[in-house]
Amino acid sequence: MDPIVIVGTGLAGYTLAREFRKLDSQTPLVLITSDDGRNYSKPMLSTGFAKNKDADGLAMQSPEVMAEQLNARILTSIQVNSIDRAGKRLLLNNGLEEAYSKLVLAQGAETIKPPVGGDALDKVFSVNDLQDYGKFRKALPESGKVAILGAGLIGCEFANDLRTGGYEVTVIAPSSSVMPGLLPSAAADAVKTGLTEIGVEFYLEQYVTEVNQADNGVSLTLDNGNALEVDVVLSAIGLRPRTALAGESGLKVNKGICVNRALATEDSNIYALGDCAEVDGLNLLYVMPLMACARALAKTLYGDETSVIYGAMPVTVKTPACPVIVSPPAGNGGEWQIENAEGGLRILNKKGDKLLGYALTGSAVSERMKLNKLLPAVMP
Ligand SMILES: Cc1cc2nc3c(=O)[nH]c(=O)nc-3n(C[C@H](O)[C@H](O)[C@H](O)COP(=O)(O)OP(=O)(O)OC[C@H]3O[C@@H](n4cnc5c(N)ncnc54)[C@H](O)[C@@H]3O)c2cc1C
Repeated sequence: MDPIVIVGTGLAGYTLAREFRKLDSQTPLVLITSDDGRNYSKPMLSTGFAKNKDADGLAMQSPEVMAEQLNARILTSIQVNSIDRAGKRLLLNNGLEEAYSKLVLAQGAETIKPPVGGDALDKVFSVNDLQDYGKFRKALPESGKVAILGAGLIGCEFANDLRTGGYEVTVIAPSSSVMPGLLPSAAADAVKTGLTEIGVEFYLEQYVTEVNQADNGVSLTLDNGNALEVDVVLSAIGLRPRTALAGESGLKVNKGICVNRALATEDSNIYALGDCAEVDGLNLLYVMPLMACARALAKTLYGDETSVIYGAMPVTVKTPACPVIVSPPAGNGGEWQIENAEGGLRILNKKGDKLLGYALTGSAVSERMKLNKLLPAVMP
């Protein structure tokens, strides 16, 4: 019998394999990854400097240990180049192929490259996996200066983490506030204030046009003509779901790989979950949704077709300078109402009496459990 093949050993791939093995210990299982296959928790990448952990320190298990635990074959540093849907096989970049009975795409999302010129683009890093993190750490001199491009969740988390780790940090972003798509403005202001108080500098409503070699590090040119010298640049301007493999094989892709609530594409032998998947129209690049998908898909692969349910999906922003938890309202949402709470802000999104979303800052984050019970499910 051909194996179930999972492409990707990130949180989505490994969690699915683990959930499946709870139900079925024997069906042949193969995982294929273009990275080194070490098991790690991606959210920890933006807390590593404060904890003084290098890439090895953040790695939890080697692929050999994972293979044994999962009773699976794990192919590392292998890229899946294409899917032969009619032949139910994958064509790999080592010239070999892998047949599948069921195929699961858990390919994650890739970083968007910043549109900058200059002769020092090799000093512009992005951190989207453990290997990226290792390279970035190696390039960074002790207590050096870092410019972060982008003031989204990942940019702000790295700003806090690098600052706590002893680096001088400047955040440069075209937006007028931090995390504009995620936080209501009062919560964004609180995060910016918290980060400024620990010494992070913000250049908002500006963007970098060039990164060039300088005597000590690199020189950044901004659109308004200003210049800034730093040791390295960390780009955190956004992620794009990896859809090319699915798209080139004729599967429907939109923002992510389109799947129904049973995580199936229109090819009944191919499924997707995690950052690469758009589940019934929703492409959520967070851990909670992929965990729910992994549990549902494991049952489906076992033969018990199961639709995923998303309850409330609050996001914790790891900025200890100003802790925040946010549950963005679906669609247009209601009205934001700001209340002062003990040691922070309670910002509620309501339509009439109905709570649709919230943002809690500072010590008000302790109210999250109470509020989560009142929120509507994201996908009931
Ligand atoms: C710095 C950072 C901090 C974060 N913090 C949080 C947080 O606090 N809370 C939260 O909810 N979310 C957080 N996220 C998001 C969360 O980590 C992701 O949603 C999640 O890890 C995605 O897992 P994944 O398995 O879908 O993708 P990935 O971990 O990206 O895994 C993709 C896998 O697919 C493989 N692959 C891709 N294409 C191919 C191919 N063609 N052939 C072979 N292999 C392939 C890759 O090698 C990799 O193994 C954070 C993200 C980042 C970057």
